[in-house]
Formats: sequence, structure tokens, C-alpha cells
Amino acid sequence: MSKLIDGKQISASVKERVRQEVSALRARGVSVGLAVIIVGEDPASKIYVANKKKACEALGILSTEYALPAETTEEELLSLIDRLNRDSGVNGILCQLPLPRHLNEKNILRAIAPEKDVDAFHPQNVGRIMIGDYDFVPCTPAGIMEMLAHEQIEVTGKRCVVIGRSNIVGKPMAMLLLHHNGTVTICHSKTENLREITKTADILVAAVGRAKFVTADMVKEGAVVIDVGMNRVDGKLFGDVDFDAVAPKASAITPVPGGVGPMTIAMLMQNTLTAAKRQAGISGDSL
Ligand code: NAP
Repeated sequence: MSKLIDGKQISASVKERVRQEVSALRARGVSVGLAVIIVGEDPASKIYVANKKKACEALGILSTEYALPAETTEEELLSLIDRLNRDSGVNGILCQLPLPRHLNEKNILRAIAPEKDVDAFHPQNVGRIMIGDYDFVPCTPAGIMEMLAHEQIEVTGKRCVVIGRSNIVGKPMAMLLLHHNGTVTICHSKTENLREITKTADILVAAVGRAKFVTADMVKEGAVVIDVGMNRVDGKLFGDVDFDAVAPKASAITPVPGGVGPMTIAMLMQNTLTAAKRQAGISGDSL
């Protein structure tokens, strides 16, 4: 029987670590602040933003929400970002995606100062991940690496297969596994013989966005299976993995909900703390 990788428990330990560091910083007169921008009324985005705010409050991070109307112009949004970039009380800035269609996502993400880019979407931070010299990693892949480390799952030398090549999950995930000496294959919608590739994986990461996409016949006996998917079907949340069928074959597997999801917010808190430490000239773990 496979081991269930408990994202709730691991994220709680990450958040506790962050809470203690935030408190130690405060004792030195350094506060940690996150600005969260949301444009429009997307209900899912509103829930994500509320959860981020709640996590900040629990950890002693000052969060400020900028809820802008859907008709906000690009100029107005860029002007807010410029103001936040120059505000020394703001250590991290995130702009909740997706943005309304009339706003150019690339322009907005590029406008956030790289040292405050706690989502790690700015091209400079993306490039730094490529060369393995980074402060921030997108929160979901960062959370997955944290889970693997917590579970003492060795990546070195392992065959890793990532299904999905998005800039937010698939690509940075593959780069992190590569930096940890995995032998990495990235699959996508044009991949031929997908099953033959996924069956070679010691570590299989599914970031597809299709409920129960990964079936038991796609998984090697004893594989570690990480399910990133969050798919709502008839109001119920499903991962990208057919959990009931795959779990008996896997050596370890993440559930949905309660797996990768909780890790994402925990790593956002971690990135915000890192930003504050860098801006205060405090390096590494030294406090
Ligand atoms: P995305 O941008 O839509 O990317 C999906 C990827 O899956 C694409 O690269 C696509 O290939 C690939 N794909 C689609 N159909 C496929 C098929 N039949 N065979 C192989 N590959 C296929 O999605 P995303 O932002 O990476 O998110 C993926 C999933 O993770 C979603 O369910 C999302 O909700 C979830 N998610 C969860 C968290 C969390 O915190 N748990 C965070 C972010 C995302 P092409 O590139 O060829 O189109």
C-alpha cells in the first residue's frame, strides 16, 4: 500500500518555520509585508486571495489587498505596481491571475520588481531558475520539492516525468527536478506514446488540468505520484490522477484535496519571508 503524502501536515510545518522567522525578524525591527492585487470579480481568484490573506495574518505577515474593478486600465494597474515597487513597507507583490482579457499579463508580470516577485513569474526570476541561481521559485513546484524533501524521497538519478509544460507548474517543476539530479522528461498534449513514457517514471508529476487523467496503466509499480491537478467536476474537486486505481501501485502519492494545494500557499509565505530578508540584507538562514 502506498504512503499518503500529507500536504496539510507538511505545509503546517513550513508555515510554523516561517512564523518563527517572521517573529524573530520583528524582534529585530524588520516587518514582513505582502501586497496582493486582484482585478475583477473572478470567484475562484477571490477565494485564493482570501486564503493568502488568512495565511499571512496567521504568520504575522502584513498583507494589503488591492481589489480593483474589472475595468481597470493597464496604465492604472502599472501605476499601482510602480508605487508598490517603491514602497519599502512592501516586500512582496503578487498579482492574482487570470487578469481580465484587456490587460496584458506579460506587461503586468514584467512590471513587478524582480526582488518583490514572490510568485517568481518575472522573466528575470524565470531565467535565474534556469541557471540554478534563484531566490524565488513558483510556489507550486517549490511546494512539491519541499514535500519530496520532507518525505526523504531521493531525486538524484531517478527517472522523473512531468506531464504539463506550463510556465507556472510544468517547466519550473522539471527544472527543479533537474537541479536535484533527476533525469527529466517533460510531456505535453503533443507527446506521442505518453503511457510508454509515464510508465518509466520513478517520480511522476501530473499537471494537466484533466480529472483522473493518469490511470493505473500509466504508472510503474512503486512510483512516487504527485498530483497537481485541481479540477472541479459537478462541484467536487478531483486531481489529475485516478487516485483509487493508482494509489495501490504507487510507493507514495499525494491526495486531492490535501496534497499539493496547501503547499502552494505555504511556499508563498516562504517566498515573502525570503524577499523581506533579502531586502533587509539578511542572507540565507542567518537571523
Ligand atoms: P495549463 O497551463 O493548462 O497546462 C496544462 C498542461 O497539460 C499543458 O502543457 C498541456 O499541453 C498539458 N496537457 C493537456 N492535455 C494533455 C494530454 N492529453 N496529454 C498530455 N499533456 C496534456 O495548466 P497549469 O496551470 O499547469 O495547471 C495544471 C493543473 O494544475 C490544473 O488542474 C490546475 O488547476 C492545477 N494547479 C494546481 C495548483 C495547486 O496549488 N495545487 C497550482 C497551479 C495549478 P500543451 O502545452 O501541449 O497544451
